[in-house]
Amino acid sequence: MTLKAVTNRVSILGKKPGRHSTAQRQLLLEIIRGAEGHLDADELYQQARQRRPALSLSTVYRSLRLFKELGLVEEHQFDDARRRYEVKPRIRHYHLVCLGCGRVLEFQCPSAERVKSKLSREEGFRVTDAEVCLIGYCSKCQEQLLASGADTKIKQRIAERG
Ligand SMILES: [Zn+2]
Ligand SMILES: [Zn+2]
Repeated sequence: MTLKAVTNRVSILGKKPGRHSTAQRQLLLEIIRGAEGHLDADELYQQARQRRPALSLSTVYRSLRLFKELGLVEEHQFDDARRRYEVKPRIRHYHLVCLGCGRVLEFQCPSAERVKSKLSREEGFRVTDAEVCLIGYCSKCQEQLLASGADTKIKQRIAERG
């Protein structure tokens, strides 16, 4: 979906509540779109407030819910603490989450797509969504952990893999 298409859909939605909230929603969507990575509601709120100090956290939550319902934004939960958001990507991707630095890396997985169609073919199960999230340590964190006096169990795990 192009940026223009996205903006149009949001402005249609915004007609009832008035111009004010339309602009707020557009700003929020712009920030999510421009963000490198996956923002949580709080980070989104902080960034949005720099440009619109009157914007409230509940507006952020309400808008996120709306974006999600419209399929404009995807919600992920990489750890139990926070939900994170990103604009729905054109090409489906999945996530690698680093336990060390919290970085989230993205990867594409054609075999996951194949599994989905195979399941619907063979089991008659219609898959509507899939979340693949792999957890571990990025290369930087592995180096740091090995160099530091990190937990020997973690070290072992990393060394075994090597
Ligand atoms: Zn890391
Ligand atoms: Zn992502």
